[in-house]
Amino acid sequence: MILSLNAYAKINLYLDVHEKRPDGYHDLVSVMQQVSLHDTISVRRLDSGITLTCTDSAIPTDERNIAHKCARAFFDYFRLNGGAEIHIEKKIPAAAGLAGGSTDGAAVLTLLNRLYGTGADAETLCEIGAKIGADVPFCIMGGTCICEGIGEILTPVTLPKKNYRILIAFPGNGVSTAEAFRALDSTPSDSAGHIPDDVLIPLKSGEIPKKLYNSFERAVLPVHPAAVRVKEILLKNGAVTAMMSGSGPSVFGLFSSEESLHPAENALMQAGFDVYPCEPV
Ligand code: ATP
Repeated sequence: MILSLNAYAKINLYLDVHEKRPDGYHDLVSVMQQVSLHDTISVRRLDSGITLTCTDSAIPTDERNIAHKCARAFFDYFRLNGGAEIHIEKKIPAAAGLAGGSTDGAAVLTLLNRLYGTGADAETLCEIGAKIGADVPFCIMGGTCICEGIGEILTPVTLPKKNYRILIAFPGNGVSTAEAFRALDSTPSDSAGHIPDDVLIPLKSGEIPKKLYNSFERAVLPVHPAAVRVKEILLKNGAVTAMMSGSGPSVFGLFSSEESLHPAENALMQAGFDVYPCEPV
């Protein structure tokens, strides 16, 4: 039996990374939103071993793949002898600040839990996934969440309506998350000084928040002119607001309707950027 699942990307509507702790980790506060852009993951049971194929030849298919790591962690956690054949149909650009790897890993944990009838709850799957990648737990939970601690404390947020549209553009030249943290540590903090409520209160009343914030912009935008250009194009062509997602370099714009997104979509395509119109999940 083969089971399949959409593995959704995320954007950060708010991301305030605090100063590095003595143990090298960073505390942060983030509002994360799952979006309809997705990979598709298919998994089949094997008697033993983990095999992985991916439609994107640039993604490693061995034990470096986050989906592979999550499968290994699943079998170890439950002390199972089984195996898995995993296939990833890749649509989410990699190293783009969209949790493309984490979401594949999250989907593999969810699918193996079903295939092996382990009956673990979401919390247990999050515990297994957190050891592999900071964004895996959020990708298991999905929807809208406030994320705190070093990324492991998740509070789901129920939003009555999510009637805005999102246009994500990938400016090329992926950013390594580890490098983005290093760059952040060497620039003076410009901490947001506001709170996720500035994002969540408008969203709860059906409005697009104007006060978005991402600490990584100060470290990544100065060395990524294409991301700056994408942001300018979004704002000049009808985005209510625009910001880089996660450690970048993807930039997203928020729009009040699907029609109002088209001018920016066309302008970005003409400028040679990959664009992904989507909606909040
Ligand atoms: P985040 O937003 O969580 O920081 P990201 O979107 O910036 O993540 P990923 O797409 O997860 O970054 O990819 C980061 C690196 O992980 C890439 O260099 C890629 O080679 C590697 N990788 C391993 N497994 C996967 C996978 N299943 N999909 C995408 N990239 C993967």
